[in-house]
Formats: sequence, structure tokens, C-alpha cells
Amino acid sequence: MPQNADNVLDHFNLFRQPEYLEMFEKKKKEFENHHPDAEVERVREWAKTKEYQEKNFAREALTVNPAKACQPLGAVFASLGFEQTIPFVHGSQGCVAYYRSHFSRHFKEPTSCVSSSMTEDAAVFGGLNNMIDGLANTYNMYKPKMISVSTTCMAEVIGDDLNAFIKTSKEKGSVPADYDVPFAHTPAFVGSHVTGYDNVMKGIVEHFWNGKAGTAPKLERVPNNSINFIGGFDGYVVGNIREVKRIFESMGVEYTILGDPSDVWDTPTDGEFRMYDGGTKLEDAANAIHAKATFSMQHFSTEKTLPLIAASGQETYSFHHPVGVRATDEFLMKVSEVTGKPISKELTRERGRLVDAIADSSAHLHGKRFAIYGDPDLCYGLASFLMELGAEPITVLASNGGKLWEEKMNQLFASSPFGKNCKAYAGKDLWHMRSLLFTEPVDFLIGNTYGKYLERDTGTPLIRIGFPVFDRHHYHRYPVWGYQGGLNVLVWLLDKVFDEIDRNTNVVAKSDYSFDIIR
Ligand code: SF4
Repeated sequence: MPQNADNVLDHFNLFRQPEYLEMFEKKKKEFENHHPDAEVERVREWAKTKEYQEKNFAREALTVNPAKACQPLGAVFASLGFEQTIPFVHGSQGCVAYYRSHFSRHFKEPTSCVSSSMTEDAAVFGGLNNMIDGLANTYNMYKPKMISVSTTCMAEVIGDDLNAFIKTSKEKGSVPADYDVPFAHTPAFVGSHVTGYDNVMKGIVEHFWNGKAGTAPKLERVPNNSINFIGGFDGYVVGNIREVKRIFESMGVEYTILGDPSDVWDTPTDGEFRMYDGGTKLEDAANAIHAKATFSMQHFSTEKTLPLIAASGQETYSFHHPVGVRATDEFLMKVSEVTGKPISKELTRERGRLVDAIADSSAHLHGKRFAIYGDPDLCYGLASFLMELGAEPITVLASNGGKLWEEKMNQLFASSPFGKNCKAYAGKDLWHMRSLLFTEPVDFLIGNTYGKYLERDTGTPLIRIGFPVFDRHHYHRYPVWGYQGGLNVLVWLLDKVFDEIDRNTNVVAKSDYSFDIIR
């Protein structure tokens, strides 16, 4: 046996031992009926060609490796941003196990969420009893201040009416009559996780502002000078929200963050498990109606929420996940214009430092070709920053992007010579991206952890920026917004550029004449 108690081999090395290699070889020969190696190689090469790409792009029904998730994932994200709130997903419980593990693997933190555990009988008779018992149990077991209800696709297909079910549950005493149970229908077969975020944020705002589903009078807006801020579905939420608060405080802006899970996804390890931590206070969510304006950092995460807010009489502004100097300038100038607060000296100095860092390093990024995929706003923000750095975002792909997003990307490309050769692909998946990486090669790929398969297949180095990042730790603690965030993204890009230069120049007596100590 290759194992030895003094030097235990895990799977990395164990299966490379001769006994295992021999066993795998035997299994392959005797039982797997595999194709000849030459045939495998022929097909692999064919899948790199333009001819294959044309067939790949002609796909109508099949999706392979999509870069998006279903609505309730975004619903859970939005719900967790409120004080002592538990997301309650009405439907089948497998979905909830998946959402929780998905977030926990990204944030390396617990993610609390419950299900009404509908089964086959509920699919026939409806899930009313599941709602009645589920709300009562959740309320008594986990002592939340608010239960935010969304739906899995099973509950949507059978047509459960959340509004009526919650009302009946209250009548039956599951929770007190005036207890906050905002709700949103979040069908998985419409849009993506970003849509679910939007639906739940809208549901919560509507609940507090428009009379709590008929159980309280509608709020009267008395305008004040504060602003509301909505971050949208954002894998960097922990670092980003903290950075945005720091920016607002440095400018003296009065603000309310609508949806702030930055504490609950970053609780300390000190002997106590905190099921709830931080989040937008419920009275602040209600009082947010009085704000002068609402800022959304991600247009496509708030397509329905912002019009609802605008209907209250507020000004609304949306951005596309601003990264870098120009995008941060635009955001801060708009905040300054709306609030009348000047951009602080501290922020102006930070801007200068980011410009300095860009000037110091631009020789290494100028003209570099990138492919990017991710959520529509993140793609836009990163592409815009790359162009600011003199790099070319050749391929930009959003599985959950639509026509409007594609148009906005094309306008962005047209705004700079670095956008000349660039193209946006809406509604395509990572198998499309794989073809593009072969036929339109780029220097680097920017995306989430799923891009490691593209890196393996095509040899394009992956820079992990996006959601989810499962196979690296703690990136989400760093902001990508603000000038400070721009600096972080710049360093992540440069780190990979330099790693690649070193990797390509470290062969002794062959390429190490360029293995420089100073770069
Ligand atoms: S697609 Fe439907 S079944 Fe799958 S996780 Fe989403 S809601 Fe659940």
C-alpha cells in the first residue's frame, strides 16, 4: 500500500502511485470501451475550429455551462441585507440547500435560509399548509424580526398565491397580524438571480412604503436630504458596502443602505455563532421613502425596484458596477450634485493615487486583450476600466444579458479606440466562450471560478473576478468600488500579468534572459 501514517497522501498524490495507475489503466482497457486516443485528439482539435464555432453558435435548445443562477438565489441575497431577517423560500427544500451552500462556498460563512418544504401532495393541493406551518415554525424557532418570502419554481408552476397565503397564515395565527412578511414571486424560469434580487428588493420596499400588504396605512413621503443606496447582487458586497459607507461618511452624506449583508456574511469567530448581524434596520427601510434620491450601483439588478421608488416622487440614478477612475468620478459627482456635499479631500487624494498607480503600470496593460464574462453590470464596469487602462475587452459575455445590455456595451466600445475590436455576447454560455477563446484568442480571461475549466481547455490565464469564486479565499472582503476598489482590481490584473511573464521566462538558458527582478 502506498499509504504511510507518517506521510499520509491525499488525493493529489495518492492516485499517482503505481498501484492506482495500473488499476485505472486496467479499468479503462477492460470495461470502458473507450475511443482510440487518436480519435479523441481529432475531435478535440475539431472543437477548436471556426467550423465547430458556427455549429456551437447555432444552438437553440441546449445550454452548456451557463454563467447565471436562478431567481431565488438573488432573492435570498436581497433578503439577507435586512436586520434580523430570514429568507423563507416557499417551495421545495432542495433549492434552499443549494442556495445556502452556494453562498457559503463563496463567502466561507454560514448562510441562513428556510424552506416551506413542499412535496408531491402540495403540488396537487397547493402549499397553503406549508406556508401556515412554515411561517409559524420559522417565527418561533429562529426569532427573526422579518421573514422575507420568495418562491421556488415548483410553487410558481402550480400557481400558489403568496399574498393570499400569507394573509391566511396571519389569520391562523402563524405570526402576529402586524408582523413584517414581505414577499415576491421569483420564478426560476424568468431572468436570472439578478431578477430575483430585483423582485425581492421591490417587494420589501413596496411592503414598507405601500401599507404592508393592506395591514397599515401607506406612508406619506416627507422629503429630506438623505439618499438611499442599493448595491445590487454583488459578490464583493462585504468589501464594497464598507467602502461605500466610508465614502459617504467622508463626504458627510446622510444615507441609508437598502440591503446590507456585509456583516452577516463576515461575522467574527469568537465563540458565538451569529445567525443575524447588521443589515438595514426595518425602520430605516420604511423611512427611506423620505429620501431625496435613490442610487443603484447595478442598473440590471434594480430594473423594477427603481421605477417603484421613482413613483414615490424620488429621483433615481443607476450605474453599471462602476470600477476605475472615470466610473467612480461619475458616481461621486452625481452623489455630490444630488446631496450638495463636496467630494472630500481624502477622496480626491485617493483618486490621485489610483491615477498614479495606473501611470506606473500602464506599460504592462496597454494593448492587452481580455475576455470577460459575468453579470451584465459587472461586465460593463470591468470592460470600461480595462479601456481606461488601455486594454481591449475583446469578448464580453453575459448569459443573463439582454438586447439593452448589448446596446449599452456597444455604446461603451464606440466611446474609445480600445473598444474598436470588441464584441458583446448576450444570452450566451461558457461553451460559446470556449469557442471564442480558440478563434479570437485573448491574453487573459476574467470571470468566476467556472472559468478554470476554460483556462484548462484553452490555456487562457484566468483572473478571478466575479461571483462565485469558490476556489480562492477572501476576495469578497476587498472592495472593487471607489478609487480604493479600482486599485484592488488593478493589482489583481497586474499580479496575473506578471505571473504569466515570469512563467514564460523562467526556463533556464532558454528564456531566462527576460526573467527580470524588476518589472
Ligand atoms: S431552478 Fe427551480 S428547482 Fe432549481 S434551484 Fe432554482 S428554483 Fe429550485
